[in-house]
Amino acid sequence: MRVCFDTASGGANPNEDWVGGSHNLAVVLDGLSTAGLPTGCQHGVPWFVAHLGGHLMAALADPSATLTNGLASALERVAALHPDCDLANPGTPSATVAVLRQRHAELDYLVLADSPVVLEEAGGDHTVITDLRVDDVLPELRAEVESYETHTPEHREALRRLVLAQRQVRNTQDGYWVAAAKPEAAQHCVTGSTKLGDVRSAAVMSDGVSRLVTEYSTATWEQVFSTLRMEGPTSLIASVRKTEAMDPTGRRWPRYKSGDDATVAYCCW
Ligand SMILES: [Zn+2]
Repeated sequence: MRVCFDTASGGANPNEDWVGGSHNLAVVLDGLSTAGLPTGCQHGVPWFVAHLGGHLMAALADPSATLTNGLASALERVAALHPDCDLANPGTPSATVAVLRQRHAELDYLVLADSPVVLEEAGGDHTVITDLRVDDVLPELRAEVESYETHTPEHREALRRLVLAQRQVRNTQDGYWVAAAKPEAAQHCVTGSTKLGDVRSAAVMSDGVSRLVTEYSTATWEQVFSTLRMEGPTSLIASVRKTEAMDPTGRRWPRYKSGDDATVAYCCW
């Protein structure tokens, strides 16, 4: 497997996405926004995703480890790195997880929350593996955020209210699951396998990139894969930014930020 990737911050703040790749593994993490609220952790989201990513790559280097067990073990190890932080804080740093691993003639995938793995099948169809449980909770508060233009005090306040409410249901049976301080979240991933021979190429990405198709509808998956194949990940992220620049305050495409952190790992054979 050949993996080619790029990642870019959506604005002036540090990038809270993380990406890593090897000859048989691609990992993308998307750190959840804290909206400026307390987290109980002195390290921050970029630190969390960097350490979770590194430990996940290490755990999955053992081919006998399932993706689920590898994630559980990485979460346990990262939690052990900061025992003096308040890991029971509902705002403890957290991230979505998307993994693709080649194991001989099989491809294994794992998705936790809304960073998708997209498979371009040999016949040209696309299969999107994602976990959109977060979209089912708190619809009223989400709609409120989306009713304001970005960069307004009303938008900022509505986003804080949404994040505070999300923290109450995050990693509970009634809410949605993300990678945070407890290994238990790994048991709630979407996982599966497919035959390598059925897949032409694949892309592992944060929603900062997949929104080109799912939110903005300015590209099809076919066009996304064509850009990845012909021009590469940097060019695909540039086209996301070009689209967002047409709507800088989110009137046409209501959203949480003018530009979200964007990451894509393109895998081919
Ligand atoms: Zn910490």
